Amino acid sequence: MIGHIHSIETFGTVDGPGTRFVVFFKGCPMRCAYCHNPDTWELGGGEEWTADKILEYYDENKEFYMNNGGLTATGGEPTVQIDFLLELFTKAKEKGIHTCLDTSGIMFRRNEPAILAKYDALCKVTDLVMLDIKHIDPEGHKELTLQPNDNILDFARYLNEQQVPLWIRHVIVPGITDQVEELTRLGYFIGGLSNLKALDVLPYHTMGIVKYEKLGIEYRLKGVEALTNKDAIEAKKHILDGIRKRRAELNQSHELEEQHKEEESKTEN
Ligand code: SF4
Repeated sequence: MIGHIHSIETFGTVDGPGTRFVVFFKGCPMRCAYCHNPDTWELGGGEEWTADKILEYYDENKEFYMNNGGLTATGGEPTVQIDFLLELFTKAKEKGIHTCLDTSGIMFRRNEPAILAKYDALCKVTDLVMLDIKHIDPEGHKELTLQPNDNILDFARYLNEQQVPLWIRHVIVPGITDQVEELTRLGYFIGGLSNLKALDVLPYHTMGIVKYEKLGIEYRLKGVEALTNKDAIEAKKHILDGIRKRRAELNQSHELEEQHKEEESKTEN
């Protein structure tokens, strides 16, 4: 099978744990206003690779990835080419390579059995999912990405059911995703996911603008100032508040259930 690949980075340090071999897939149905890879949006084109060729290339530098690193599929949106992704990850796992999927979750459909079956298979060969939740509010999400977020949030729940380790990423954009209410709401949602392993909160930056100019695409966040790491740390505090609130409620309801079970068994005796 042929995969349409935008590019490959052999020494990635931000796309998963350790040093990683990062494969940028072509194609993405989202249109995030701050996307810094608009050149990956179009499906098709790019370089044509087979899974075997990619893994041969991986092997050339495999010493880099030995210490807690591995292979990351990103993009674009890798699940747009889910059959190819599945083949690549299956073959990578056969070679004992750590696999990480960096995704927006946009292609997930629980109600479509053929699609769900592919995701079930993908979960079995994926060691880590990095899920970008762009905006917790459905309307805010549509404005920011031109796509709904219901299937994305459902994908997060599904990964929890499958117990696939999960990293959540969230970009703070001034005036769009920096409201306290939305941040705590996001935290409250992800606080319900027991597979959550890490949370990356990133400041909005403007480094992608040049690409938009080159491609002749309108940049929708013109005039929005870049944020600093300090801003992202501040925002993260609110997300953590939401997580704590949800976890406290879950513990409480867990305690109540235990109490109820105890009372029931006493009555039976
Ligand atoms: S999901 Fe990723 S690749 Fe797609 S538009 Fe958004 S930021 Fe860009």
